[in-house]
Amino acid sequence: MALIVQKFGGTSVGNTDRIKNVARRVAKYRAQGDQVVVVVSAMSGVTDGLIKLAKDIVPLPAEREMDMLLATGEQQTIALTAIALHSVGVPAVSLTGAQAGIITDGVHTKAKIQNITPKQVHQLLDAGNVVIVAGFQGQTDDGHITTLGRGGSDLTAIALAAALKADLCQIYTDVDGVYTADPRIVPTAQKLPEIAYDEMLELAGSGAKVMQLRSVEFAKKFNVVFEVRSSLNENPGTIVKEETNSMEGVVVRGVSLDKNQAKVTLFGVPDQPGKAARIFRALADAAINVDMIVQNVSHAGGAPATDLSFTVDKPDLLKASNVINTLRAEIGFKEAATDESIGKLSIVGVGMKSHSGVAAKMFDVLAQEGVNIGMISTSEIKISVVIELAKGESAMRALHKAFIG
Ligand code: ADP
Ligand code: ASP
Ligand code: MG
Repeated sequence: MALIVQKFGGTSVGNTDRIKNVARRVAKYRAQGDQVVVVVSAMSGVTDGLIKLAKDIVPLPAEREMDMLLATGEQQTIALTAIALHSVGVPAVSLTGAQAGIITDGVHTKAKIQNITPKQVHQLLDAGNVVIVAGFQGQTDDGHITTLGRGGSDLTAIALAAALKADLCQIYTDVDGVYTADPRIVPTAQKLPEIAYDEMLELAGSGAKVMQLRSVEFAKKFNVVFEVRSSLNENPGTIVKEETNSMEGVVVRGVSLDKNQAKVTLFGVPDQPGKAARIFRALADAAINVDMIVQNVSHAGGAPATDLSFTVDKPDLLKASNVINTLRAEIGFKEAATDESIGKLSIVGVGMKSHSGVAAKMFDVLAQEGVNIGMISTSEIKISVVIELAKGESAMRALHKAFIG
């Protein structure tokens, strides 16, 4: 008898017919004698709809209340999934994240899991039930509801698989697995039979939303091997696991495009020690993640000053602007500007560690496409560039063609 964690994303539970499909799939595994824990997302569009409702009232709603609101999306789905399982004769009980013992820190809207004590999950499984857990949510140890960042149901599933020492963790979604690029943008993208944690991390961190970044970090840390596969067919998916020697033979495993970033530029920042530290400390204190940072050469003439640009997630832009504006007098910069029409384009592969000339080829391809590069950042296995958003998708297809086919 195996213990299996199965996660179904928003599209896979997008209407009642899909929820009935999920119930049939779960029932099949259970009929084989497996114990099944199901993690579900809110039905597709529900989380976005709830965010819109709150923002219709005020542009920056209190984050604690956003968590209270957004957690209701997943609660609808757990109950509906339990009802669907009952309808096919399978005993099932739904649990909120808190009831499943998921304890997080208090950083509302992007809380981190601190520990999981799934006592109730074990008891319900042992009594013969399928247990359905609400993804994306937990609670602080003093009882406030939290959420785990967009796409956070992936993290719920991976973390539960680790805590329950599950034999199998399956992430069901609306594509057949992890592809060399988003198949909706690059029609020639190929499904990967397997991918290393580090590659999946870099892809997830640069816009391939097929897996939430933090869920992959968690999987790597606790060595949770998982499979990404489709809820709409029986095709084998993609296994995400530790790197193997054979993986280094491929230079570029995947291409990704992040349309969810925005750029902030501070003009005329006094060129003195401590200014950058002050700016990024204030952003960190507001729980804003900064991705790329570029500081240009000092201006000639006048007091030495620099222009400082950085990128943040689009939903954090208003908060970041507010933080920056409160620092204006203290830092003494001249002007701040924001730009939402950027895209971050990345190529990823563990093979880059042992191949040279990859950046040169990437920049050549972009030049041929007439794409200007605004910012560059690299890791051992990734090169990212910030470009004009409007050219993002065609540039992505060009890079895919040049490196993968
Ligand atoms: P779910 O609701 O199941 O969590 P998501 O919408 O979060 O699903 O993620 C699945 C989507 O990720 C796919 O529909 C696809 O468009 C997109 N995607 C982006 N990059 C990739 C990639 N490299 N491989 C597969 N899918 C990708
Ligand atoms: N419902 C949440 C979201 O839309 C979490 C998830 O789907 O994983 O981000
Ligand atoms: Mg998702």
